[in-house]
Amino acid sequence: MGTPTETLAFQAETRQLLDIVIHSLYSNKEIFLRELLSNASDAIDKLRLAALEQHALIDDDPVLEIELVPDSQARTLTISDSGIGMTRDELVSLIGTIAKSGTRELVQQLKDASAEGQPAASLIGQFGVGFYSAFMVADRVEVVTRKAGTDVATRWESTGDGTYTISEASRFRRGTDIVLHLKAVDPENGLADYASAQVLKQLVKKHSDFVAHPIKLKEVKDGVAEWTTLNSMKPIWTQSATEVSDESYAEFYRHLSHDWHDPLDRLLLKAEGRLEYQALLFLPSKAPFDLYYREQDYGLQLHVRRVLIMDRCRQLLPPFLRFVKGVVDSSDLPLNLSRELVQQDRHIAQMRAWLTRKVLDHLATMLTSRRETYLGFWREFGAVLKEGVASPDTEHRDRLLKLLLFPTTHEGTEPTTLADYVSRMPEGQTSLYYVTGESRAMAERSPHIEAFRAKGYEVLFFVEPIDEFVAQSVPEFDGKPLVSVARAGVEPGSADERKEAEEARKARDTERRPFLAFLEQTLADQVREARVSSRLTTSPACLVAGEHDLSPALERMLRQASGKDEGAPTKRILEVNDDHALVKKLREMHATAADDPALADAAHLLLGMALLAEGAAPPDPAGFATRLAAFMTREL
Ligand code: ADP
Ligand code: MG
Repeated sequence: MGTPTETLAFQAETRQLLDIVIHSLYSNKEIFLRELLSNASDAIDKLRLAALEQHALIDDDPVLEIELVPDSQARTLTISDSGIGMTRDELVSLIGTIAKSGTRELVQQLKDASAEGQPAASLIGQFGVGFYSAFMVADRVEVVTRKAGTDVATRWESTGDGTYTISEASRFRRGTDIVLHLKAVDPENGLADYASAQVLKQLVKKHSDFVAHPIKLKEVKDGVAEWTTLNSMKPIWTQSATEVSDESYAEFYRHLSHDWHDPLDRLLLKAEGRLEYQALLFLPSKAPFDLYYREQDYGLQLHVRRVLIMDRCRQLLPPFLRFVKGVVDSSDLPLNLSRELVQQDRHIAQMRAWLTRKVLDHLATMLTSRRETYLGFWREFGAVLKEGVASPDTEHRDRLLKLLLFPTTHEGTEPTTLADYVSRMPEGQTSLYYVTGESRAMAERSPHIEAFRAKGYEVLFFVEPIDEFVAQSVPEFDGKPLVSVARAGVEPGSADERKEAEEARKARDTERRPFLAFLEQTLADQVREARVSSRLTTSPACLVAGEHDLSPALERMLRQASGKDEGAPTKRILEVNDDHALVKKLREMHATAADDPALADAAHLLLGMALLAEGAAPPDPAGFATRLAAFMTREL
């Protein structure tokens, strides 16, 4: 006696997603087959990998294949596999919910798009609805599955309307059947006859030819069942690039990555020498949602002589290339390589170094010969490459540095490589300069870059959070120091010019000492020193970091990262523009009426303005506003 049938509700996001899949317009409905075959093939791979350690899982039923059984009378199509199968709980969690991070946001976007009447196809494509694509072609879907190593089966059934039922079932062997109760043929809406052998043959050839396990079609002729294997099963990475179409590569990529987009680019590699292996690697065109999630599951598929031995092998590429998808097939590794062994394997370490170099060289070529493509890549994955620069592992740093792009003050050439920046450096410039900020717009207006602009020096914008770490990790490029413009003593000009300017500045500084001392005293809580600036042309004042201090942004990030908000932040240096009308006026006031409370108020406003100019808030915003209101009242 089985347990009674239970009716369960789909998780809210799943229901919404199903609704969109069923009612909207994913025009390319035939891809349901590729998705279900891909799941079947994954299930067989999972079984094989599990059986490496637990032979019994496979021994009693060694047939590994996928069957397609169309029934044109009943209008059903059944896709069966002898893969790993699912337990009842797995069925509920894998098919009833969408566990992927970012789902909620995506479903919202999909809903907004369909509310505005936009085709949701491109958005669905970003996500890939996998199993749910079955509901594009079927009114009702049944799943009967039996997990390897168990003897109970479970039936799952749904019309895609918000609930599904679960009940005990029987299945004579391990694996999964997906039974599609097909919608009526409707060519106008892109629904072909998916119970037709002819149609199925074409679709398998088109989307799933490379699937590594046989896909067999059952046809009944004169009452006799005939089975035909539809796919060639050729490992696509062993074929020469001229034999394989772009579309086949793209299909293979989609199968491998579970991404629905075309890849941006691919690399077909062959290592010959002491170690022989082949690799087919893809760069995705879009960053996945979980790119920055720590638990993101990444890695290349590792095969040994065509046989898959590990699904996501992390050791084959460094974390800063975690977005690369693909297959590596070795002739030399043992077939029974365990996860633990992979971590210590010398061959794997060599393969990783070689593959990393190849990918970075490929990107370097793309940067010079296909700049538009590279810009697209950079938008999606640039920040990940920067992680590589900022990581303590310096093995690939020089290659990575050549791939970096930054927005810059130099017009018309954005973004720029560091090498191009250097090539534009005017006579006398010996360092590369950058300004940090929370956004490009803020950095652009930073008072710190005034003197550099005036001098015709280019300044790079470091406006992504990771850039602070890049700056810390890259003291120099091409033998020239990489310097923040927001540091004391950093000025444009040749060594002689700088020396001269510094002497003139010092002379003025001495002359203005009483006024500067007054500022230091009044603002002692926020600044550690006040001095005459030689860098400002239009702003009255700015704050700079001492030569050896952390930058304020980095200090902020480190505080956030450590979760502790202890101690006061490092105080900075207030630089004042001695030629600015406001500063002149304050100086005169200090000379004649040093005790006037308005003067102290003005000093606080001056500091507040310097902070605002760099995008930070004054330490006491309410106090700043009150003082400002008082000044305006007096003036108007
Ligand atoms: P994805 O394949 O991207 O994970 P799907 O929606 O296609 O997403 O499938 C969801 C999950 O359901 C799969 O990850 C797998 O765990 C499970 N699944 C689907 N089809 C099968 C099958 N034929 N055999 C075993 N598990 C399956
Ligand atoms: Mg899938």
